[in-house]
Amino acid sequence: MKIYNTLTKRKEEFVPIEPGKVRMYVCGPTVYNLIHIGNARPMIVFDTVRRYMEHKGYEVNYVSNFTDVDDKIIKKALEEGVDSAVISKRYIEECKKDMKSLNVRPATTHPLATQEIDGMKEMIASLIEKGHAYAGADGTVYYRVSSFPEYGKLSHKNLDELEGGKRSLLVSGGDQKEDPLDFVLWKPKKEGEPFWESPWCDGRPGWHIECSVMSKRYLGDEIDIHAGGEDLIFPHHENEIAQSEAANGKPFARYWMHNAFLNIDNRKMSKSAGNFFTVRDILKQYDPMVLRFFMLSAHYRSPLNFSADLMEAAKNGLARICTAVSNLHFMLSNANDGPLTEQEETLLEQAEKYEAGFDEAMDDDFNTADAIASIFELVKFVNTHANAGCSKTCLQALLERILALTDICGLTVEQEEELLDEEIEALIEKRQAARKAKDFALADEIRQTLQEKGILLEDTREGVKWKRA
Ligand code: AMP
Ligand code: ZN
Repeated sequence: MKIYNTLTKRKEEFVPIEPGKVRMYVCGPTVYNLIHIGNARPMIVFDTVRRYMEHKGYEVNYVSNFTDVDDKIIKKALEEGVDSAVISKRYIEECKKDMKSLNVRPATTHPLATQEIDGMKEMIASLIEKGHAYAGADGTVYYRVSSFPEYGKLSHKNLDELEGGKRSLLVSGGDQKEDPLDFVLWKPKKEGEPFWESPWCDGRPGWHIECSVMSKRYLGDEIDIHAGGEDLIFPHHENEIAQSEAANGKPFARYWMHNAFLNIDNRKMSKSAGNFFTVRDILKQYDPMVLRFFMLSAHYRSPLNFSADLMEAAKNGLARICTAVSNLHFMLSNANDGPLTEQEETLLEQAEKYEAGFDEAMDDDFNTADAIASIFELVKFVNTHANAGCSKTCLQALLERILALTDICGLTVEQEEELLDEEIEALIEKRQAARKAKDFALADEIRQTLQEKGILLEDTREGVKWKRA
């Protein structure tokens, strides 16, 4: 399996630190709003990487954080007149709902910045002790970039080049910096902001330190893969390397993976530019699997331009697979039991080449575009050769092959069976019991599950009423 490594600018054979195991960290969103479909790109891409690695037999420890302390969260909290924890908690829940719709599996661990402050203070203290950081007069702590000669190795910028651009890097508190390139590890509190005590001042961490600390805590000093969108290469990931390697005295991540942008009118989709669609917006029009299919239809390192035409193409492509699967189900319901005929054995052998094609594409830096092309070839083969005369065993084997590949892509292609009335009523009863026990999370989850299956609940004075949407 080859991975393109931003650090070396080459595709390299993947060799994990510990055989059979993968330690992977993916930078997650800052939670002050519903996520947009640009944010969903790394989630879908790296969830697919994880699924493929598991298919290859690796045990993947997948860590992805939520940045829950940040200027934008604080601003939103002030606007709404609530605590910033109210904002971050709300949008973490909303983000998790979107992930679930898009079939992005929860990470092994989703750490929160605000829960890891002690670890951050420890790492900052150790950086100061080793001469890699210093505190200014007001208690702001800066990383001393000149103390880390390898600074720039990920973004392939050299220090001279960066020095040339120094003036643009002068930011608040800049006059206390030894050098404009130095970046903030800890900053003093401002009125009305959340803060934590520290040896330097009451304040809060800079953004970069959280990922170095969470990665160390949940995955160890050295990890296999560190990933995120390409906007994170500089300065975020460059700074993470400087922090982690200086503090731990070991190489940080072996493979650095970065997805290209999801664009709109060939410009990066972003909250700040205002040219974005939330995942929720898109799911009003399309099935979540269409969005997932659209994201995987391009290689993750190629820019992807969002357009109605491409979404329609994704919808049609996915429908082709779903139709083949539902035809197989129909044939299966009428097929005869019996051993494979010789002809069927040959058929199944021939079908293997599409799985091999899929794996070959994925082994080449997770080329999902080509992998999906192999699924289409398999579907075409099945459409041509599977018929009502085939045995159950043969049809079942063909079905399982399609499903194995779509499952690696996280694409659900089987129609969900409708819930029976008794099943709905049992779930409603479970929800009532959860509410009584004040387990509102479970109650919400049940409502959400029902909603996804098209069952709408209405709480009335006479009890809960339900209807099919
Ligand atoms: P943020 O909340 O801005 O820190 O972003 C969370 C993740 O989404 C990061 O990995 C970003 O690199 C990624 N991201 C943000 N915007 C886009 C975009 N338009 N296309 C692809 N990835 C993006
Ligand atoms: Zn990060």
